[in-house]
Amino acid sequence: MSEKIAMTTPLVELDGDEMTRVIWAWIKEILIEPFVQLKTLYFDLGLAERERTHDEVTIQASEAIKRFGVGVKCATITPNAERVEEYGLSEMYRSPNGTIRAILDGTVFRTPILTRGIVPYIANWRKPITIARHAYGDIYRSCEMRVADELAGAKLELVATTPGGKEQRALIYDFGTAGPSTGIVQGIHNTDESIEAFAHACMAFALESKQDLWFGAKDTISKTYDRRFRDIFDEIFWGHYKQRFDAAGIEYFYTLIDDAVARVIRSEGGFIWACRNYDGDVMSDMVATAFGSLAMMTSVLVSHKGYFEYEAAHGTVQRHYYQHLAGKETSTNSVATLFAWTGALRKRGELDRLPQLGAFADKLEAACKATIESGVMTGDLFVLSTLPHKQKVDTKTFLVEVARRMTE
Ligand code: NAP
Ligand code: MG
Repeated sequence: MSEKIAMTTPLVELDGDEMTRVIWAWIKEILIEPFVQLKTLYFDLGLAERERTHDEVTIQASEAIKRFGVGVKCATITPNAERVEEYGLSEMYRSPNGTIRAILDGTVFRTPILTRGIVPYIANWRKPITIARHAYGDIYRSCEMRVADELAGAKLELVATTPGGKEQRALIYDFGTAGPSTGIVQGIHNTDESIEAFAHACMAFALESKQDLWFGAKDTISKTYDRRFRDIFDEIFWGHYKQRFDAAGIEYFYTLIDDAVARVIRSEGGFIWACRNYDGDVMSDMVATAFGSLAMMTSVLVSHKGYFEYEAAHGTVQRHYYQHLAGKETSTNSVATLFAWTGALRKRGELDRLPQLGAFADKLEAACKATIESGVMTGDLFVLSTLPHKQKVDTKTFLVEVARRMTE
């Protein structure tokens, strides 16, 4: 075999949980280390280590991505009550992705990976649809209260206090008047800076990929909050991008979120759909599933400060992990996790001017697609594929088959 590709700057590596942790190690062993002199700065975000460090490791990893610029992350468990019990946690830690996104502040771009033989559920979708999810604020950084018991009948207000002590109040709801006395309340925020960065990231991505940019919100109902998103997008488009979009022959257009959803379904794909944080969370699962599988989707967090974090869009595939632990065969799709690695290596190569690294990433992605298009695939794709000579393989065999195509 020819010499391994050298790296100059380490990738920030964030290991994770369950089946994806198993896949993580296999990808490195079978598909990367044989070809690349892999340099990483390793952080273990597995739940045991988060417990041991009281989640400090998640913050350290995020800070390392800020220092080195490029991170690659394995899927991780976001603990709920069952997980607290299962892992004997002293706290119900926050979602690692939430913590990382709050620190890096950016936009998550998710693009389906299309292969021959996997036909989208929406017959007219012929090109990928990239979801650009604003990864800051709104309900993901909300403050919530249950209005009940001693709070029953309370009057709920928004109160703004300036550093000089001036106050402004607005009534949210008065639970004390004639109506019901119990309920719920939530406060959310966003910042102009983050929305501006979101708009820039989407417009820069549209230019780079030469695709139209769509954005939808609900400014007819939310006349201040959603309206601010629309106005910032307009200002940034007209101030910085209009001419470049014209020159590239692409368009930006804003429409109400419900109209956007209807148009997306009728479209042929091939554009970027900028989504508010929650819309992006929900719609990326819909788009990924409609294109085939959550495991056939790339995901990258792009921060306006120049940091990139690559990950898979799906979770830790818990059900498969328990099968794996029981010694049973699994057929878990590793494509999204593999593309997180290739995306990160390609970006590292770009920043460090190591074209061999980018070429390796291209070759590995092509080998992965060629494997599926030759009919060798994991169970999730097997049930979808229209190829005549398809064959379902186990998790590890798929990776070995990709490796074989790397050396052929
Ligand atoms: P999940 O891990 O995405 O899996 C849900 C189901 O989708 C699986 O049971 C499997 O279906 C299918 N699936 C997902 N990825 C697959 C793959 N790579 N190959 C084949 N099938 C795949 O979601 P979950 O089970 O709801 O969540 C498990 C854990 O993941 C949770 O603790 C959650 O907190 C965490 N999570 C993490 C992230 C992240 O770190 N980015 C995102 C979401 C969830 P079948 O069982 O039918 O085969
Ligand atoms: Mg989601």
